[in-house]
Amino acid sequence: MSDTSGWYYCLTHQTVEKGKGCKGGDRMGPYPDEATAARALEIARERTKAADEADKKFRGDDED
Ligand SMILES: [Zn+2]
Repeated sequence: MSDTSGWYYCLTHQTVEKGKGCKGGDRMGPYPDEATAARALEIARERTKAADEADKKFRGDDED
């Protein structure tokens, strides 16, 4: 019963899983609800993109 709490985004299957889905390791979470878990990858992408942009600015070369 207590095993079904929490939502995760499974990187292996690229889907939202609730509670004990896959064995831990390639899952992001837990998240409070399904919607947040579904956005996990999107959030991660945004962070990666932002970090990439910041890196470009830091290096000061937009070309090449
Ligand atoms: Zn899975």
